[in-house]
Amino acid sequence: MTSEPEGGSPNRAATRPEWDDWTSAAGHEGHDLPLDAHLHTDQSPDSSVPIDVYAALAVERHIPEIAITDHVDFDPRDPAYRYTRYEDRERTVRDAAERWAKHGVTIRFGGELTYNRRWEADVREHLARYRYDYVIGSVHDWPESPYWPSRVGAWIEGRSLDEIVAPYYTEIIAAARSGLFDTIGHLDVVKRYLHPHITAAELAARPDLQEPALRAIVESGVSLEVNSSGLRYPGAETYPSGPVVARFRELGGERVVVGSDAHAKGSFAHRLGEAYRHLVDAEFDHLTFRRGAERARIEVPGGTPIGTQG
Ligand SMILES: [Zn+2]
Ligand SMILES: [Zn+2]
Repeated sequence: MTSEPEGGSPNRAATRPEWDDWTSAAGHEGHDLPLDAHLHTDQSPDSSVPIDVYAALAVERHIPEIAITDHVDFDPRDPAYRYTRYEDRERTVRDAAERWAKHGVTIRFGGELTYNRRWEADVREHLARYRYDYVIGSVHDWPESPYWPSRVGAWIEGRSLDEIVAPYYTEIIAAARSGLFDTIGHLDVVKRYLHPHITAAELAARPDLQEPALRAIVESGVSLEVNSSGLRYPGAETYPSGPVVARFRELGGERVVVGSDAHAKGSFAHRLGEAYRHLVDAEFDHLTFRRGAERARIEVPGGTPIGTQG
């Protein structure tokens, strides 16, 4: 589906029909996008989607490359702690990759590893022992975190916003500096943990809160993920939001990647076009993704820096 471009500069108008395609209101189903690099299958405790379901959707939607990034947790109290064996996950993904290659979809074997300084040594050991094509490091709501639903209200009480988000961003900065990961996953998911006590709008009014984390990501050279799953939650913003992606670029950030973080069939590539759009708006023209030994540069469709088109 295409629609008439709105007004504005000729450069913008020239790219508009494509935007409308990607972000069409009809179900927000991403299609004709080069990569979805964050997907959970039934090898994650919080998903029951067989890998072939995503592969078939990728074929149908013309998304030629996907990464399966099932959860790996390191605290025995976390749900994906020894939930599956590495060998089983790898075999499942590699077998599927072989089955689906002839249909035009490439499936990469990735992982989403939950990071915290207290188990960094375990993450390091895991990555020294096991090989992935691609590794996301994410900070989740760890067992003793103040963001746990039963604790978050008391944590917020009487504290400034700076103090409230500090434990989360301290871990993000350490994750970036650890050098362990290709990508930092869903950068500001803390906004989901703080909802409804603190709104996304209140956090957006304080962009300085994320600044040290963005600088650490730029300096370490790890990729910043733009994760469209946040669009499915209150606040309805990508993780991180468009303005944060733009700020990352201003600070000298060059490496970005995208993912829908689907845990259900209906979330595959869901509103992923909006994540791509944030990249184009911030003048990124490629994704930085790892395919095993190769660091791949994948063109962002329509990603010619705005204002420089002929
Ligand atoms: Zn995650
Ligand atoms: Zn995830």
